Amino acid sequence: MADQNTLNVIIVGGGFCGLTTAIDCKLKGFNPILLESHPTSRTQGDVLDFMHNAGRHFLAWDNGSVGKRLLETGVHTAKSLDYYSSKGDLLFSEPWIFRDDHYYTQYAGHRGEQHQILADYAQSLGVDMRFGPGRTVVQYIDTDSETGVITQDGSRILGDVVLACDGPRSLARSQVLGLPDTKVNSGYAIYRAYYELNDELRSNPLIARLCNPDEDQAAMFLGKDMHAFVYTWGKATQLAWVLTHKDDQDIGESWSFPGRLEDALADLERGGFTDMLREVVRHTPTDRLVDYKLVWREPLETWLSASKKIAVMGDAAHCHLPTSAQGACQAVEDAVTVASCLGHAKGDVKLALQVFERIRFNRSHVIHMSSLSNRDIAHTIDWTTENGEKFSDTLSIPHDDWIIEYDCKADTDKHFDRLASEVSSGKLGTIQELSLPAGGSFKPIPDHLKRDKETSLTSSGVQAQAVSINI
Ligand SMILES: Cc1cc2nc3c(=O)[nH]c(=O)nc-3n(C[C@H](O)[C@H](O)[C@H](O)COP(=O)(O)OP(=O)(O)OC[C@H]3O[C@@H](n4cnc5c(N)ncnc54)[C@H](O)[C@@H]3O)c2cc1C
Repeated sequence: MADQNTLNVIIVGGGFCGLTTAIDCKLKGFNPILLESHPTSRTQGDVLDFMHNAGRHFLAWDNGSVGKRLLETGVHTAKSLDYYSSKGDLLFSEPWIFRDDHYYTQYAGHRGEQHQILADYAQSLGVDMRFGPGRTVVQYIDTDSETGVITQDGSRILGDVVLACDGPRSLARSQVLGLPDTKVNSGYAIYRAYYELNDELRSNPLIARLCNPDEDQAAMFLGKDMHAFVYTWGKATQLAWVLTHKDDQDIGESWSFPGRLEDALADLERGGFTDMLREVVRHTPTDRLVDYKLVWREPLETWLSASKKIAVMGDAAHCHLPTSAQGACQAVEDAVTVASCLGHAKGDVKLALQVFERIRFNRSHVIHMSSLSNRDIAHTIDWTTENGEKFSDTLSIPHDDWIIEYDCKADTDKHFDRLASEVSSGKLGTIQELSLPAGGSFKPIPDHLKRDKETSLTSSGVQAQAVSINI
C-alpha cells in the first residue's frame, strides 16, 4: 500500500485529460509528475466546447478564477446555435446555453488558449510538468514490484500509479493493454481553422451575417456527408470554422496535415454550400488550416493493466469523433474521477483504479458510441426547411440531463465504498455488469428518417446501431 500523503502519480500526456488529472491530484496533496512530448501548450485554434458536466469542475478550482479566464476565451455571449441547410436556409435555432446556471460552466473557446489556462493553473500549483520530445514515454513498466515509465531521454521514472492520458495514438494501449494497433479511418476527416477578423472582413456582407460585435455567434451548416460549424467571438474579432468531410485516404503515420484551401472550397462546391460559408473559408490564411483525419477505435474491454496500477484514460481509452461533442468532457470526467478514487482509496491504488473503471466504463462507452450516431443523423437526413423543423430534436447537439447535469465527483463520493467492497470481495461479473449503469442511452436513426440507407452507415463499416443499448 502506498503512502497516501506522498502518492507519486505519473501522468503521461498533457492534453485536457492529463492536465486535469495533474491538477486534481495536486489539489489532493499527491505528487503528480506530468510527462508531455510537445514542447509547449497547444496552438490549435478551433473551438472546443466544454459542457457543464466538465466545466463545473473547472469552476470549482481556485474560487472560480480558472472558470472566469476560460469564459473570456470564447463564445459566451451567444444567444443561440443556428442550424442552416447547406444552401444557407435557417432551419432552426436553439439556445446556446440551455440553463441559466450553465452560463458560468459552459466554455466554448479557443482550444490553445483553454489549454494554456489549465497549464498556467497547474504551474501555479507547483505541478511537476516536464515538456519536450525527451519526455516522450517510450516504455511502460508494469511489474509486481515496479510501476513507472522510461522516457526518450533515457530517464526511468517510478511511481505508485501511472495514468496514461496519451490520446488517440496511445502507446499505452499496445504496451499496457497488449492491444494491436486497431485504429481505422472513420471515413471522414475535418478541416479545422482559426483566424482574426479585421474591419474589412467584418464589413464583408457575407461574413457580416455570421458576426456581431455585441453577441458571439455559433452556426452549423448541414449537407450530404458534410457538416460545418462557424463561430465568431471576442466582439467579432475571432473566427473559427470546421468542416467534416468524406476522406478515405490511408492515414499512415500522420493524422494531421496542412489543409489545402482549394480542397476545402472544392468540397463546399460539391456539397452545394452557401456563399456565406464559402466566403468564410476563402479568407482563411493558408497556414491556419489543417486537415485532421478522424480515426475511430473500438471500445476497450478494460482500461487497466495486469497489475491494476496503470490505467488508460481520455481519448486513449475512448477516442471520440467530434460529433459526440463530449470527447474532452469525458476525458475531464475520467480525470476528476480517478483523482477522487485515489483520494478515497487511501493509498490502495489497485482498489482505486478498479473502482474508477467501474464508475466510468458504461457511461463513457455509451457516449463514445454516440459520436457515430450523431454524425450519421447529421449526414443522413435531407435538411430541407421542412425536415429541419420536424427533426430538430434529432439533430440538436446532445444535451440530455443524464449527460450534462452529471457530477462525476458526487457519483464517486456516493458509490465508492460499495464498489470498493465489491472489488474487495471479488464479486463476479462482466465489466458491464460490475460497473455503474450509463444513466441513459442514444437511439439509432429510425429507418424512416434515413435518406439513403446504403450510404448512411459510413464507408468504414462502423455501425451506428451499436449505440442502441441501455446498460
Ligand atoms: C475537431 C474536433 C473538435 C472537437 N470538439 C470537441 C468539443 O466541442 N467538445 C468536446 O468535449 N470534445 C471535442 N473534441 C474531442 C476532444 O478534442 C478530445 O476528446 C480531447 O482533446 C482528448 O483529450 P486527451 O487529453 O484525452 O487527449 P489529447 O488531447 O490527444 O492529449 C494527449 C497528449 O498526450 C501526449 N502524448 C501522447 N503520447 C505521448 C507519450 N508517449 N509521451 C508523452 N506524451 C504523449 C500528446 O502529445 C498529447 O498532448 C473534438 C475533437 C476534434 C478533433
